[in-house]
Amino acid sequence: MSTELLSPRNPDELWRAMESHPDAVPFAGGTDVFVRLRKGLMAPRALLCLDRIEELKGIEDHGSHLFIGAGTTHSTALAHPLVIQFLPVLAHALRVLGSPPIRNMGTIGGNIVTASPAGDTLPPLYALGAEVELRSREGSRRCPIHEFIIGPGKTILAKNEILSGVRVRKADRYNVHHFEKVGLRNALAIALVSMAALLRISDSGEIQEVSLAWGSVGPTVVRSPEAEQILLGKTLDLRTLENAGAIVRKAVAPIDDVRAGSDYRRQVAGNLLLRLTEYSGEQPCRPESPE
Ligand SMILES: Cc1cc2nc3c(=O)[nH]c(=O)nc-3n(C[C@H](O)[C@H](O)[C@H](O)COP(=O)(O)OP(=O)(O)OC[C@H]3O[C@@H](n4cnc5c(N)ncnc54)[C@H](O)[C@@H]3O)c2cc1C
Repeated sequence: MSTELLSPRNPDELWRAMESHPDAVPFAGGTDVFVRLRKGLMAPRALLCLDRIEELKGIEDHGSHLFIGAGTTHSTALAHPLVIQFLPVLAHALRVLGSPPIRNMGTIGGNIVTASPAGDTLPPLYALGAEVELRSREGSRRCPIHEFIIGPGKTILAKNEILSGVRVRKADRYNVHHFEKVGLRNALAIALVSMAALLRISDSGEIQEVSLAWGSVGPTVVRSPEAEQILLGKTLDLRTLENAGAIVRKAVAPIDDVRAGSDYRRQVAGNLLLRLTEYSGEQPCRPESPE
């Protein structure tokens, strides 16, 4: 069976293509879709290429928020002054996502809709409280990313919708923007466990605001409001972080797979918090300024 390729150039052509081919599978960079096609995991009658639709690309400054178009590649986002200045935690994750060719082709939207618990942009986007924007011919709707992703590979995207982008509040109120991924090797590895951490620390060292999220330790990204609560009002000392780490190990629900066992993942999820001691000095790290 041959697969038809649809390649709309603007939203009007996109809606028409989606109406005439309701089962067409959309793709942007294709770095996930073409792997699944090659493995025989899908055999769609039509593929819908989103790459020529300029309206889906780019990063806009909306005052208190940034809007990142779903079709923005990881490389573009990583080099963008607004991301570097206002979303350093996302930039840290993009820097370790795949290889340069994958970052040049793969998109933020593709990473979100793939909804892999190991998707590198997801812990930062959850910690940042991002909202996704879904669009159809009828209009658009927004929802928090944690309501959009409902399981591994599962989202609430309707058949007549696409993801148009993600809306993220500027994170310049935080002075710690931390992302770490543990893989089987240092580079080009899928996350065994990852953690995004945003903290606002006062000059006296008190944690005034904190937002944490873990990847690869559950069916979707895991948050731990209890661990955040333990940290609030304290300093970043080892004992406090160990207490919070013990809570995180109870909150996560990792699986065993070929890459790592669940006990290892659980242990590492808590240990990653201990890294935050590196920000406990008198002068907390500041967001990077644009390069
Ligand atoms: C060798 C290799 C290494 C990788 N390493 C990493 C890694 O380290 N970290 C990581 O997180 N990922 C990694 N990936 C996975 C992949 O590159 C990323 O998830 C990437 O962000 C996917 O983006 P894409 O545009 O290529 O998605 P596509 O393959 O185009 O699409 C992925 C899914 O999203 C849907 N989709 C895409 N755009 C839209 C849209 N706008 N609206 C609705 N649906 C849409 C598609 O239908 C499909 O279901 C790797 C992949 C490969 C092949």
